[in-house]
Amino acid sequence: MALIDLAHVAGRAPFRTLWTRAEARRLYDLPFADLMFEAQTVHRRNFDPNRVQMSKLLSIKTGGCAEDCGYCSQSARMPGEKMKASKLMEVERVLAEAQKAKDGGATRYCMGAAWRSPKDRDMDMVVAMVEGVKAMGMETCMTLGMLTPQQALTLKDAGLDYYNHNLDTSERYYSEIITTRTFADRLETLDNVRSAGMKVCAGGILGMGETIDDRVDMLVTLANMDEAPESVPVNMLIPIPGTKLENAEPIDALDFVRTIALARIMMPESHVRLAAGRTEMSDETQALCFLAGVNSIFVGETLLTADNPGEDHDGNLLRRLGIQPEELDSAS
Ligand code: SF4
Repeated sequence: MALIDLAHVAGRAPFRTLWTRAEARRLYDLPFADLMFEAQTVHRRNFDPNRVQMSKLLSIKTGGCAEDCGYCSQSARMPGEKMKASKLMEVERVLAEAQKAKDGGATRYCMGAAWRSPKDRDMDMVVAMVEGVKAMGMETCMTLGMLTPQQALTLKDAGLDYYNHNLDTSERYYSEIITTRTFADRLETLDNVRSAGMKVCAGGILGMGETIDDRVDMLVTLANMDEAPESVPVNMLIPIPGTKLENAEPIDALDFVRTIALARIMMPESHVRLAAGRTEMSDETQALCFLAGVNSIFVGETLLTADNPGEDHDGNLLRRLGIQPEELDSAS
């Protein structure tokens, strides 16, 4: 890990640790037990290892998206049969769903819309959703695509705690997966979110045909931000028929766990979330992910449009592992 003197950069801590790919790759390639030991050590230094933050995700506008993300069934540009586009959900329905999530133990409510970016005419409804969920005492998160600085400020003023905007993969591999926007566009929105004073949720998807160096590079980009994202979702690709990546080679489960461990070590204070793909994972793989430093999951039957293990299955797994839900005040 290189210690770089940034004292000359106004507004920054005098010394800041920046990761290099070589250093991160050295960790990734450690013998598995050594990597897990490092990750557990970092995890226990920063978190209660037996607590996991629970988020619930709702799709507030599904399908018909103008972007061409190769993994996504909501793209209007996917090669196969397209998903029907829905309208933006009514505020009352969103709030009713949020109440159910709260009653089920969720402490954070995430709302996602299949948009390239929100239109100004949609902002009033989106703001009402944030205000309503916030008034229930839950944390709020949204993922609406690219944001202008003004839209980010509007959401912040409404009480939005987190904005999700994933990097998906490395800068090098990005154009293989998405052509309708660039990696730099992604970073710009993350910058707008941070500048508005919101917390950042940003991670990626593994199993899209990327190399190990792509995975490492994505984590280096996230960890080297001025402030690392508070929340880092790591998804395992669910290949969806009709998408560009329908025949992608599945990622080896141990490689997936290695990437989680690396994220934990490089972003010690972030919540690392095991996001999409849990239905395809064995309980044992999920247990290894918790050991590697995962401390956040999505709960509920569906994740936007993908399957997610139901509450019964999750409850059973967490009970067998002795894991408790994290209380709100320590969650980030
Ligand atoms: S991932 Fe999001 S931006 Fe990309 S096609 Fe799907 S809904 Fe649109």
